[in-house]
Amino acid sequence: CDFYVLDEFKLGNIMSSSLINLISSDKAVDFIKSSIKEHDDCKVCSFKNLCRSGCRRHKDFSDNYKNRFCESFKFFYSKNISKLIEIANIVKFR
Ligand code: SF4
Repeated sequence: CDFYVLDEFKLGNIMSSSLINLISSDKAVDFIKSSIKEHDDCKVCSFKNLCRSGCRRHKDFSDNYKNRFCESFKFFYSKNISKLIEIANIVKFR
């Protein structure tokens, strides 16, 4: 994701380090762990399989990881879930 192409998130240089070393570094693991944190509402949300608590970038880390688009996700999914299921079934049986 280009939002994280910043020095503070840089893991190293692929030309001088192996990929396995880069992705298993403390910095990479800390990033992944912080990314999967979710708001308590997400733990019981019926849209969790679709939304997966949203993008890390849109979570408010000072408000228990509440995703700023949560209400929009719920609005969109509740209005369109039957269409999404229909599309999934068409794709699944191709
Ligand atoms: S819709 Fe909201 S509560 Fe549900 S999983 Fe997504 S962010 Fe979490």
